[in-house]
Amino acid sequence: MEKLTMDKIVNICKQYGFIYQGSEIYGGLANTWDYGPLGSRLKNNIKDAWRKRFIQENKNSYEIDADILMHPRVWEASGHVGGFSDPLIDCKECKTRHRADKLIEEYDHNINGDALSEEEMIEYIRKNKVPCPKCGKSNFTDIRQFNLMFETHRGVIKDDTSSLVYLRPETAQGEFVNFLNVQRTMRAKIPFGIGQIGKAFRNEITPGNFTFRTIEFEQMEHQLFCREGTDTGFYKFYKEYAMNFLKDLGLNTDKLRYKDHEKLVFYAKEACDIEYLFPMGWGELWGTHNRTNYDLSRHQEYSGKSMEYIDPEDNSKYIPYVIESSVGCDRLTLAILCDAYDEEILEDGTTREVMHLAPSIAPYKVAVLPLVKKYHSEYAKELKEKLSHSFMCMYDETGSIGKRYRREDAIGTPFCITVDDETINNNIVTIRNRDTMEQISINVDEIEDYIANEIKF
Ligand code: ATP
Repeated sequence: MEKLTMDKIVNICKQYGFIYQGSEIYGGLANTWDYGPLGSRLKNNIKDAWRKRFIQENKNSYEIDADILMHPRVWEASGHVGGFSDPLIDCKECKTRHRADKLIEEYDHNINGDALSEEEMIEYIRKNKVPCPKCGKSNFTDIRQFNLMFETHRGVIKDDTSSLVYLRPETAQGEFVNFLNVQRTMRAKIPFGIGQIGKAFRNEITPGNFTFRTIEFEQMEHQLFCREGTDTGFYKFYKEYAMNFLKDLGLNTDKLRYKDHEKLVFYAKEACDIEYLFPMGWGELWGTHNRTNYDLSRHQEYSGKSMEYIDPEDNSKYIPYVIESSVGCDRLTLAILCDAYDEEILEDGTTREVMHLAPSIAPYKVAVLPLVKKYHSEYAKELKEKLSHSFMCMYDETGSIGKRYRREDAIGTPFCITVDDETINNNIVTIRNRDTMEQISINVDEIEDYIANEIKF
């Protein structure tokens, strides 16, 4: 297959019903995207896989669902009101706008732009003559800090400062402010984790690359609360746990790599990203951070509530350390789509488009296809209805069987069941495997067990 471009993946997503431009009939709203029937199923299946791995199978882990709107003091304590800004820099030549940290990271991949001060960034850009990605010249303005928080107002009086609230820029604070609630109500003992999946909003300076960077997106975040001294062990554990999860979702290992942060933000002890090779290059997919006891200490300071944990074993009191594991659900969905898409040249010289999605996350698990509409559709419709109690199931009776197989290949349906005379006479169906294109015959009564076994995560 020719190298996959982002334009191509955008078109495929639109054509097959994965992702559409937001507000399209009004000309679209830039950098907003709506998930269609296939995309929303895929994304939900990815969330379910995360839930299974990070909550259900993970010892002492609890899921919450906190509100998007939080007390404004939360964002003062977290440092977002004062410090959640991106360093904005303009190219004086072609007037394009950039993030100074990303310019540097693109220029030298080993640098973590996040951890550089404004002065360090300007000095680096000038000294190395870092070029503008658009025009190639190196003539930039000074850096200005641009806060990414979306503000809104509650109540009827908009100019009253007490009405100011923020759309959360990350889900993590929901976990921190509920630390005491979860610990008490679940009688949780440290180490334990709190995770959640939810929307976050950032007024990004340079949104783009499809759903890679948007202003509204979903995060799947997990915070492990632990005792100082055990933190590095858990940090290593979660770094690997995230990588294994990505591999189990079927991502190509050659397109995944760790990037350890050498220069850290002041409160962090260890930090690392997992990067994926997107069509536009390597990009951050997942962050694992040892955040020390910074977050809970700050909330203790700002709320006046003690965030100390009393260890039932030895009655010692301490503010727990936090290991954060954080991934953007939309970015992960994009990586999975890019990774799964293929154009295969078949023996007869034709090309088939196929989405090699892991069966566990494929939007539809099975398609039921009557071989000849006139003779087999009644049986096939009944079978589809029966299977729909257990799986997302597609029914298609239009066009040749070959064309119908191709349509299912293109949307990643792992199994096609063909109903023919053998089914009507002897209850035997053929099941075609999307990846190998091989077919096996089985009894109708065995279909459910067969599919259930194949789509396990
Ligand atoms: P970046 O350096 O790409 O701006 P970040 O380091 O600010 O990301 P975090 O705050 O660590 O990101 O957020 C955790 C995860 O959320 C990221 O690894 C990414 O997958 C996702 N994410 C962050 N910002 C966006 C965005 N604007 N659009 C989509 N996903 C995002």
